[in-house]
This record gives sequence, C-alpha cells and structure tokens, in this order.
Amino acid sequence: MDVYRWGDPSRAATLPDAVRGLLASVLDLPEPRPPVPVVALPPAALPGRCLRALEESGARVRTDDAARLSHAAGKSTVDLLRLRAGVAADAPDAVVEPADHEQVVAVLRACDANRIAVVAFGGGTSVVGGLRARRDGYAGLVALDLARLDRLLDLDPVSRTATFEAGVRAPRAEELLATRGFTLGHFPQSFEYATLGGFAATRSSGQASAGYGRFDQMVVGLRVATPTGTLHLGRAPHSAAGPDLRQLLLGSEGVFGIITEVTVQIRPTPAARRYLGWRFSDFATATEATRALAQDGPLPAVLRCSDEVETAVNAMGAGGDDSGGCLMITGLEGTEERVAATETALTDRLTGLGGRPLGPEPGRAWLRDRFAAPYLRDALLDAGVLVETVETAAFWSALPGTYPAVRDALATALAGRDTPALVWCHISHVYPSGASLYFTVLAAQAADPVAQWGAAKAAAGDAIAATGATISHHHGIGRDHLPWYGAEIGPQATAVLRGVKDVLDPHGVLNPGILLG
Ligand SMILES: Cc1cc2nc3c(=O)[nH]c(=O)nc-3n(C[C@H](O)[C@H](O)[C@H](O)COP(=O)(O)OP(=O)(O)OC[C@H]3O[C@@H](n4cnc5c(N)ncnc54)[C@H](O)[C@@H]3O)c2cc1C
Repeated sequence: MDVYRWGDPSRAATLPDAVRGLLASVLDLPEPRPPVPVVALPPAALPGRCLRALEESGARVRTDDAARLSHAAGKSTVDLLRLRAGVAADAPDAVVEPADHEQVVAVLRACDANRIAVVAFGGGTSVVGGLRARRDGYAGLVALDLARLDRLLDLDPVSRTATFEAGVRAPRAEELLATRGFTLGHFPQSFEYATLGGFAATRSSGQASAGYGRFDQMVVGLRVATPTGTLHLGRAPHSAAGPDLRQLLLGSEGVFGIITEVTVQIRPTPAARRYLGWRFSDFATATEATRALAQDGPLPAVLRCSDEVETAVNAMGAGGDDSGGCLMITGLEGTEERVAATETALTDRLTGLGGRPLGPEPGRAWLRDRFAAPYLRDALLDAGVLVETVETAAFWSALPGTYPAVRDALATALAGRDTPALVWCHISHVYPSGASLYFTVLAAQAADPVAQWGAAKAAAGDAIAATGATISHHHGIGRDHLPWYGAEIGPQATAVLRGVKDVLDPHGVLNPGILLG
C-alpha cells in the first residue's frame, strides 16, 4: 500500500468531472494538492546494542527507509495529510518482524531490558493516531509488525471456533474459513488490510455487526505476550470464574501486551443473502424504524440508515433514486428459508413504520461500493477537499440530541467565510439500547488542513461529550481521543488501567502515548 493513500494503487479512484465541478462550485476549492514525496526520514536513533538485542530475539529486524516509512503512520486523514506534505516525523527507528509467539515474547524482553518503546503494528489502518507512539525518554521506537503471524492454527467445527495468529488480515482469514464452509462475518470498511489482532486491540465493529456481532463479541480466547509473561485467556465460552480478563485486553490498543493469537466464534457461510433498500420521509422517522428493528426485530445482519444529506449524496454518486427522504439498507443472511421468512416479516414491519420498499438495487449498489470510500478519499484530498469521518454511540433516548449537536459542531467549525462545509451521517451499528452515528465531512482544505481538522475534531469531541455519548464506538482512543477519554471513564477507572499496565508493562515500553497518554 502506498503510504500517502489507501489500498491497492490499481484501484485508485478518480473524481468524475461533474462531481469535481460541483464540489468546486459549492466549496470554493484551492488548487489541486497532489502529495509531496517524503524527502528525508528522521535519523534512526536506536543504539547498536539495542539493535543487537532485538536481532537476538530471532525476529527479522529492518532499518531500511522503505520499512520505516511504511510504518510511519496509520490511515486517518491527518496521517495522510502529514505524509502528503512530506512529513514522516513518527517513523520508527526499526521495524521488527517476529515469526511466532515466542519471538514476540523475546522481542518484548529485549525492549523491556533496553527501554525501547514498541508500537504494535497490525494492518496499519488505525484512524485515531494509534500508531503514533511517543519515543521521548526511550532508547528509540520500534514497530512490531505482526504480518508474519498469519496462520490458522485450529478450527473446531463442533464448537464453531477458529484460532488464528493475530497478524492475519481479514480477507485471508475469510479465505481460510471459506474452504471449510465458515465465515467470521466481520466486514469493517478497512477489511482489505486490517488484522484480527488489530480488531481485538481496538474493539472493531464490522458492517454486519447487527447479525454477527462486534468483533469483541466474537472473541472467545486470546493469547497475549507481555514484558512480564504470557496471558492465555478463555478456556470456556463464558465463565463465572471471576472478572473476564478477556474484556480487559480487548480494546487495550497494545498498551498491556501484544495479542498473538485470537480464537473467534465462526458461522456457517450463509447460503442466501438478500440486501434491500427502503425509503423513509425523514431521518427522525427512519431512526424510529431502526430502533424498532433493533429492539423488537426482525433484525437483519446489516442495518444502516442514512440522513437526508447522505441519502442525496449517495443518489448523486450512484445515479440512483433521488426522490428525497432517507435511505435504509437491510442485509439478510442465512439459510434460504430463514432469509425468505425474515424478508416477509421485515416488509410488514417496515411498511408499517413508514418505509417504502425500493427492492434489491440499493442493496446491490451498497454491497458493490462498500469498500470504495477510502479510495475516493484520496481523490478528494488530491482535489483540495478536506474529507474525514467522526463516529460515536449513544443510547436511543440521547441520540436525537447527539446527532444535530455533532453535525452542527462540525459544520460550524469547518465552514469558510462564504462557503459551507458538507456534513452527513448514518446510523451504522445498532443495539437494543442505542446505536452508533457515523459522520462524514467535506470542506475546502485550508492552508494548514491538519490544524483545520484539529479544530473541527475538538468541536465534535466536545459536542459528543456534552450530549453524553461516547468518544468512540469502534475506532478506539489512540492519541486523538485522549483529551476526552479520561473524562469519559473518570480518575478511578484510569487508575485501575494504570495499575494493570504497571503489572504487565512495568517500564512502560508498550505503546507510550496511546490510550493512557
Ligand atoms: C478506511 C478505513 C475504514 C475503517 N473502517 C472501520 C470500520 O468499519 N470499523 C472499525 O471498527 N474500524 C474501522 N477502521 C479503523 C481500523 O481499521 C480498525 O481500528 C482496525 O481494527 C485496526 O486494525 P489493524 O490491524 O489495522 O490495526 P493497527 O491499525 O495496526 O493497530 C491499531 C491499534 O491496535 C494496536 N495493535 C494492533 N495489533 C495489535 C496486536 N496484535 N496486539 C496488541 N495491539 C495491537 C496498535 O498498536 C494500534 O494502537 C477503518 C479505518 C480506515 C482507514
């Protein structure tokens, strides 16, 4: 993957002339902004004795510029903007590539003994600064790339569980499961590159979370290497033997240990899939219908609902139905009989709640394009557009307050003197008690787009906090959400997490600056 962009270069998107013209007229865009190549990396600071200690672990150690640059950042818009401006200040001094759990343990011992900061690197798709570990006060910073830990270790068809090494990417995991007739059903938009260990470390949510669950709900077991020893968690699906330590490691973003193995619940590959579109008059009505399905069913595997602006933008892009209102996508998966029966019940329910059936075409279009947005982001950045997303979750009773507060905070912070910013939103994941909101913004890039986004992100974070929502539903904390995280969990909980860190990582070498500051 090119460091300035997302994904497979052969799939790079170009903006249709009509869209470019429209954006230029609405947003008053600056001149196009192609990336400037990184001219020089910061000098590698790791002393020779540290490099030798790392090499003794048996892991591959790389210090070449290509390796350092490709581990310099995640894939948030700010990460891309910095690299596009030629800045790679966060590049690690070395990239360490262990081949198995034992080598990870040995690398951590070497880092602990030599006070080397170590940032776990899965697919490198973090969008919250989760790969921007601090290096000050350490002998240097290494990226621990888990790509070589990519095997399926065990598949238990009776219990329907599979144990993978943590560096396996999601498409490879699905490929390996498919040969045995199973699926994981975890399809985040970063699916192409993200790893199972990264999903566990960040409590990721896939697009089919209503049917298959969030990633943390799929995890039944974890093996975790820490500087002080190995944790092996999850000997039964559920247990009343004290607090569930798996939950402490899920979402720990590499600050407590390196997840080396993940055992997940798997499902039979669905025989039938039926994705349908529905039109509602407005977002409030569509939100109520979404809540009705989340609470009383029938619950599809995929359930998403766009606000009026997102619906209009999608219709423009797809050349589809642009008759206003709000689009809901429902994706049914399972046996033929179950899908057919659910479709009948869903049609009854949604038409009763004000939905107009649009048939399979909107569902087909959504499935076709569901991994395309990150490619489009690169084309928009090239054209001088600032494009980024913000996500949160709240209880249903709070959601009608959170939605306009965050939308308006973003729109106000990003509007130019004479030009508006475009902000739209969809409900992306649902629960009986609430849902997540996923906002997308488009604005003309200012002279310093990183500072421009920083101000907008702060406004959105404050609005999220003020309405009682969470600072992240599925992206995690990293560095970018730290200003709100401490207040969200409170000082007592922060002290608990610090206590755990002191036991597992007494010298604080794991991901300094991430999650706990
Ligand atoms: C275009 C795009 C779309 C996205 N869409 C979604 C989405 O739909 N849903 C969603 O949930 N997220 C999404 N994300 C965010 C991101 O993909 C997820 O956070 C994902 O879980 C990260 O996985 P990764 O393997 O890339 O981890 P990385 O980005 O490499 O790491 C993420 C964090 O976890 C730590 N870490 C990684 N692996 C391990 C390990 N084995 N042990 C301990 N710590 C580890 C890292 O140090 C870092 O702090 C998206 C990101 C992008 C760029």
